[in-house]
Formats: sequence, C-alpha cells, structure tokens
Amino acid sequence: MWRASVLSIFPEMFPGPLGLSLAGKALANGLWSLEAIDIRDFATDRHRSVDDTPAGGGPGMVMKADVLARAIDAAGNGRERLLMSPRGTPLTQARVATLAAGPGAVVVCGRFEGVDERVIEARGLEEISVGDYVLSGGEIAAMALIDACVRLLPGVMGAPASTGEESFAAGLLEYPQYTRPPLFEGRPIPPVLLSGDHGKVAAFRRAEAERLTRERRPDLWASRQVKPGQTTG
Ligand code: SAH
Repeated sequence: MWRASVLSIFPEMFPGPLGLSLAGKALANGLWSLEAIDIRDFATDRHRSVDDTPAGGGPGMVMKADVLARAIDAAGNGRERLLMSPRGTPLTQARVATLAAGPGAVVVCGRFEGVDERVIEARGLEEISVGDYVLSGGEIAAMALIDACVRLLPGVMGAPASTGEESFAAGLLEYPQYTRPPLFEGRPIPPVLLSGDHGKVAAFRRAEAERLTRERRPDLWASRQVKPGQTTG
C-alpha cells in the first residue's frame, strides 16, 4: 500500500480535502494510507518549541533541526523524504509518476521562514516547490503533491486510460472538452466531435492540444521530446 506520512505543526489539517472524493474514497478503501505526524510531539522543552530565532538575525522564526530530525526519524526509513519549499525543484507530472510508483513519501511541511538548513542535509530532504509563489506553510503544497500521486495509484481512477491522455502525458496540454447540450448560448460543439469518425476526432484533439501548448506554454512546447514517427504539427 502507498503510504504518505506528513510532518506538520498543524496535523489537524489532514486528511482535509484528501479525505473527500477520489482520494478520500481510495483512502477509505485502503488503496493508500495517510499518517499526520505532529512535529510538536518531538519537542523536548516545557513550551514544546519547534522554532527559534534565525542565526545572524533577521525577521521571523526558523524550524529547529533537532526537533524536525526526530519527527522525520519517527516516520521510518525506506521512503523518499521530501520538503515542501518554494526554492525546491518545481513539481512535474513526471516526478509525481515516479513517486506514485514507489512505496510512498515522507513529506515535511515548513512554516515560519523555513527550516534549519542542516536538517535538509542530514536527512537528505528533496526540496519540492508547487510554483513560483510563497504559501504560508507547506501543508497545502503537500496536499497538492499527495493528491497528484494518489490519483495515479492502481484502482483509484475510474477509467485508468484517461491518465494517458490528460495534460502533460505527452508533453502537451489537454485538448478542450465538451458535453451536452450540443448548443450552449449560441456556441455549438465542434461538429467533428459528433461525426463518429474516430480518426478525425483524434486528429482534431491532437491539433487542438498542440495549438494550446504552443500558445500557452511555449516552454513546454520547446522542451517536448518528439518521438520517431510523431509529427510536430
Ligand atoms: N522564507 C521562505 C518562505 C517560507 S514560507 C522563502 O523565502 O523561501 C513557509 C513554508 O511554506 C515553507 O517552509 C514551505 O514549506 C512552504 N511553502 C511556501 N511556498 C511554497 C511553494 N511554492 N512550494 C512548496 N512549499 C511552499
């Protein structure tokens, strides 16, 4: 079973949204497990402190290496250890897929100004970012990462084939989707989608996916690996 252990000073935030819908049903059905570890349980002083003032001065507080290390050790070995961090490697669908294929993850959620650098080194934490903006804590970032992993686990998605077609699967954004009614505020569904010609439908979707990727994500378009036999559009 895929196991997520989340380390946070707000463990009551979990499962939160991960307890509902697709991820929540899979959790209830035992397709994955979630453990929320309270970092504060590993403090040793009377006030249960998890943070202290930054060495060298400056604003805010820094999460303590010793307390965090004990919490990480309590989660055990054998799984990847991640730290949600705005200076981390941007999370990609490819990284999500490798994580989902493994035994699970230990995910550390920072708060305040961040965590003492030495625990990142000493526990080999991989820093992962969910985007170029700053959240007030790592919990929402951890939920995003775990949600993305869980939906790839065997048995979680209703139609397993659909993950192969969606955004990023082939280095392209997903094509536009339509459903009934056939006419909405004067806008018809593109007729090719109602033609019943599977070849034409596939070609239309491919062309649309390529157009959207070129327009919206020139970075993705440029770095896309074109496989032999594939057309570049
Ligand atoms: N002073 C830090 C920001 C700390 S924000 C800096 O300038 O880099 C507090 C915590 O929120 C971080 O430790 C991290 O765990 C989380 N966090 C904030 N933004 C994030 C992002 N874009 N991706 C992942 N985690 C983030």
